[in-house]
Amino acid sequence: MLTVLWLVAVLVGALALAYVNASGVVLSAAIAVALGLAWVAHTIPGWLALALTVAFVLLAVPLNAPALRRKLISDGVLGVFRKVMPPMSQTERDAIEAGTVWWDGDLFSGRPEWRRLLDTRYPVLTPEEQHFLDHDVEELCAMVTDWETTHIHRDLPPHVWQFIKDRGFLGMSIAKEYGGLGFSAYAHSQVMTKLSTHSGTISVTVMVPNSLGPAELLAHYGTDLQKRHYLPRLAKGLEIPCFALTSPNAGSDAASIPDYGIVGWGEHEGRRVLGLSVTWDKRYITLGPVATLLGLAFRAYDPEHLVGDKEDLGITCALIPTAHPGVEIGRRHMPLNAVFQNGPTYGKAVFIPMDWVIGGQPMLGRGWRMLMECLAAGRGISLPSSATGMAKLAVRAVGGYARVRQQFKTPIGKFEGIEEALTRMGGNLYMMDAARTLTAAAIDMGQKPAVISGIAKLHLTERGRQVVNDGMDIVGGKGISMGPSNFIGAAYMQIPVAITVEGANILTRSLIVFGQGAIRCHPYVLKEMAATREPDRAKASVEFDAAFFGHLRFTLSNLARAFVMGLTGSHFVGVPAGVAPETRRYYQQLTRFSAAFAFLSDVSMGMLGGALKRKEKLSARLGDVLSLMYLCSATLRRYEAEGRQHADAPLLHWAMWDAMFKAQGAMEGVLSNFPNRLVAAVMRRIVFPLGRPYVVPSDDLGQEVARILILPSASRDRLTAGMYISRAPDNPVALIERALAATVAAEPIEAKLRAAAKEGRLDAKLPPGSGVDVLVARAQAAGVITGAEGTIVVAARELTEKVIRVDDFPQDLGASEMRAGTAVVQAAAAPAIVHKAAA
Ligand SMILES: Cc1cc2nc3c(=O)[nH]c(=O)nc-3n(C[C@H](O)[C@H](O)[C@H](O)COP(=O)(O)OP(=O)(O)OC[C@H]3O[C@@H](n4cnc5c(N)ncnc54)[C@H](O)[C@@H]3O)c2cc1C
Repeated sequence: MLTVLWLVAVLVGALALAYVNASGVVLSAAIAVALGLAWVAHTIPGWLALALTVAFVLLAVPLNAPALRRKLISDGVLGVFRKVMPPMSQTERDAIEAGTVWWDGDLFSGRPEWRRLLDTRYPVLTPEEQHFLDHDVEELCAMVTDWETTHIHRDLPPHVWQFIKDRGFLGMSIAKEYGGLGFSAYAHSQVMTKLSTHSGTISVTVMVPNSLGPAELLAHYGTDLQKRHYLPRLAKGLEIPCFALTSPNAGSDAASIPDYGIVGWGEHEGRRVLGLSVTWDKRYITLGPVATLLGLAFRAYDPEHLVGDKEDLGITCALIPTAHPGVEIGRRHMPLNAVFQNGPTYGKAVFIPMDWVIGGQPMLGRGWRMLMECLAAGRGISLPSSATGMAKLAVRAVGGYARVRQQFKTPIGKFEGIEEALTRMGGNLYMMDAARTLTAAAIDMGQKPAVISGIAKLHLTERGRQVVNDGMDIVGGKGISMGPSNFIGAAYMQIPVAITVEGANILTRSLIVFGQGAIRCHPYVLKEMAATREPDRAKASVEFDAAFFGHLRFTLSNLARAFVMGLTGSHFVGVPAGVAPETRRYYQQLTRFSAAFAFLSDVSMGMLGGALKRKEKLSARLGDVLSLMYLCSATLRRYEAEGRQHADAPLLHWAMWDAMFKAQGAMEGVLSNFPNRLVAAVMRRIVFPLGRPYVVPSDDLGQEVARILILPSASRDRLTAGMYISRAPDNPVALIERALAATVAAEPIEAKLRAAAKEGRLDAKLPPGSGVDVLVARAQAAGVITGAEGTIVVAARELTEKVIRVDDFPQDLGASEMRAGTAVVQAAAAPAIVHKAAA
């Protein structure tokens, strides 16, 4: 009995010490006390006490004496690491080291400090930024319709281009001292979100000059002369920039671009200068066909050693005026019927002077690092914002449509099947907007959160696609029939652009999020890797020893934490003071998941090492856990920042349950597919000792979410805040808004009509072909409803009729009119509009 008690006490003590990540000395002291007790109180047989004591002394002495520990253990491990560690290229190193670690570091630690997240300054717009959104952005949106842009003009009309330039849309991220608007990342994100609720073409056109491209690169790496010359011109739209990295044979693997520049002497403006003879073949370049300034990435070589010892200098970025002889632009690709300018560019042995290299000669070969650094922040803004914008459009318009469109005498939004899709749309959007805002807040705090930006890009575009897909399913044929009254088809077609650019999603999920996160955010891995590359052997030994044993303790601690929190349902886990009581459990469970994730990550990296890079499915699932924890963190932050809106709680709860369930599924996916089945079985017992805690969010909760989408309310407004709603009478979203309000007003009156018909007070059997006005007249005559009520019902029906109509076109879909120069678009829901086609 005494033996059992002693063993239990030792086990509990060990778990407790590991849980708090006790130091080696404390751990040794505790074991010494336990062994002392065993000797004094005879809790275990003498031979066992002796064996354990000998083992303890043999282990504890070297482990607590760093010099001995290094000699006996860590130097040997370091040697093995040096042999097995795959060599890392400079481009890989640049990618991994780019940017900063922020909340992702906490999630990787197994013990996130929630207070840090909750104290993050939630972003607000300055009065100037707000004014820009309320006036300039509204005005720009009002100038175009997506249909005319994409199907009539095949470009933004010249006056819209001019408006964009004059109002500074192309220089939102350029500092005021250079004539730009100097907007915060959050303001930039708000503008992109709003534009994307209206027109993909405007959104991409404005997005590119403000994200990764000449202006951003110049601001960080340009010479003073380059900045003073180009930034004011870019800010005012006197230059249209583009940035060309992608080549036909180097898409996702952009670091392998074959485009090259050879350092040499040449003629420029009548002088013999040092420069580069550059050859390139690029494609998919946004704004390329109309650009006046080509940002170009190529590999620089110096075979004659004119600038130094190295021959292969590495990827280099230069700015080349497109009017420069030899630069070929102009032809266009057609990206899924979105008509933002996009096309190829070529050049063969085009000589450029050295001072066209961004940052000048010292920055030769530094291009990849520059791109990775800029991507670390930029990727978190543009595409997450545009995906959120498209999701807002879908949620608001489809929610309204689902209420006004009836089948089987019922608004389709009230069928459970549709409700399920509406629920996903609402829950996803709430979480997307939270993550978009938190990521912008981090960037405004000075972070360049490389891993978080990747997560935001991947998951917000992916969720944006799901929201739009769900919306398409809900609106049925109305979404499929293109024309001016289709409000969702364009978003459905164009969202794959966001999925593909700035790191295609499959690649980002499989290779980047965990691959980069595990090295970058882990408290010890980068240190261990640095030590294996350290040429000074003594320094390497000390640094590796500290990192390696820190790592071991970290893993053991997370093992203990994951197990104990799993066993206790994490009920006792501390929660930051003052958070909304209804969210307490999420903080506790996320802390548990963070520890479980850290433990799974360490075992995966330890067992699979470099092979984990090829095990993309495992890496992707681990990345999903990290990503989902980030999305959950952002959602909790949003709920607090918005003053715990009780009416929005269903959105919060559904999004959290769904994400936690998916995170749990991703961990299960790792365990089920882990190559070593024995290790997998042990890990499962540790991570899920009592089974998996989450089930899918309940249908009742889902119904509460769906109801928010189909009824005008403050919650629905908050969910779709910042979207553009046209005032034009025939704009399809504006029509839905009016029809929704009218339908909701008419519903109680319609209920009166049904009740009267059931009670026999109203003859509701109408002659074929007669409209609602006949029924209303009868009801008024029978005293069932008043004249005013009748008007409401008729108005609602008329608006609904307009909403459900789709466009039709001549037999050849208007091709002959287009060729003749006049396109007639017959929109059934609106009068015919005659357009002059763009030349
Ligand atoms: C509309 C549009 C605008 C663009 N604008 C620009 C621009 O302005 N400037 C510019 O330089 N480029 C631009 N691009 C290029 C864009 O960045 C590339 O399309 C993108 O990098 C993917 O390259 P790819 O299309 O050649 O696909 P591929 O590289 O052929 O990839 C195909 C698929 O394979 C997957 N994949 C690749 N490697 C892996 C891996 N290791 N593991 C798992 N999956 C993998 C990818 O995720 C993708 O799903 C644009 C592209 C488009 C379509």
